[in-house]
Amino acid sequence: MTDSDSSSKGACGLPYRATPFWLSLAGEDVEGCAKDARGVPRNPLLAQALPSPTEARVDPRELSDPLGEASHTVGDRAIQQYRSRVLVRATGECFLFCRHCYRRALLPAERAFISDKAMRELSEMLRAHEEIREVLISGGDPLTASDARLRRLIGSVRAVPRRILIRLCTRAPVVQPQRVTDGLIQLLASSRPLRVILQINHPKELSETLLEKTEALAKAGIPLHSQSVLLRGVNDSASTLIELFSSLSLNGIQPYYLFQGDLAQGTSHFRVPLSRGLELYAALRGELSGLELPRYAVDAPGGGGKVYLPEGIVERRGDSWILRAPDGTLREYPEER
Ligand code: SF4
Repeated sequence: MTDSDSSSKGACGLPYRATPFWLSLAGEDVEGCAKDARGVPRNPLLAQALPSPTEARVDPRELSDPLGEASHTVGDRAIQQYRSRVLVRATGECFLFCRHCYRRALLPAERAFISDKAMRELSEMLRAHEEIREVLISGGDPLTASDARLRRLIGSVRAVPRRILIRLCTRAPVVQPQRVTDGLIQLLASSRPLRVILQINHPKELSETLLEKTEALAKAGIPLHSQSVLLRGVNDSASTLIELFSSLSLNGIQPYYLFQGDLAQGTSHFRVPLSRGLELYAALRGELSGLELPRYAVDAPGGGGKVYLPEGIVERRGDSWILRAPDGTLREYPEER
């Protein structure tokens, strides 16, 4: 991994970190890379990895906790926004600190792996709440931890005497494919039902090494999905998104979500205006098959759950969109200028 010193931290203290593998995929020198007038790299992979001066500009409408996770905390590192699902923030470590990450303000404070005590509490909560059908193991990137730690965490879910689906959310196969060892694949295969949720934002991320690893995971019986984030200057064109989603589908990775950017602090330069996102999604619907087309969604600002687009739009009011969140509340999402 390539780490920064504190002088190159972006807004919210998120350091620079990328892997040599990711930088090699970018295919452009970090020092001399071309940048736009705002100082954001034009290269779609470097734009996701390199801090830019725009991160210091915090829009007053942005939030340090854009999904309102704090109000849904049910235990140390455990978040329950929906009745049937619990999300566990296993660690704040990542192989690549994505500049657009909505948890960017949280990651530096949660770098240690979830404690044994918190795992025991998770197990007890799952035993007590039979309505919980899924556990999302997220982070940070849980695959930054060793197999032994991961086995303990998965074991705390499997200790519950009923079948619970585990969703493992990771960018490791994309940014550090060497992490996907035979041992890890065996661990995940023995932990089914388990699905791996990747985040892939640009066709250039679909490297041969990634595809070898995802094929090995699929052969071991592990379904793969990708959620992509709509990012200005990275993938905000119909042709790029069509290439991305059709390639994912062709390679056995189900396009799952296309996320409109969250209101994370210092990320306004990545947000595509929602009006533009709707136009792009209409173009995708006209071109992609049902297997290739992900759902377009945005997490309701401040909490309330995932809003499907365009279905969840109530109205456009000036520079804002009024959205109806799954919890019934109305939430305001700004139209980016
Ligand atoms: S890998 Fe995930 S948690 Fe880590 S910085 Fe990227 S988006 Fe955020």
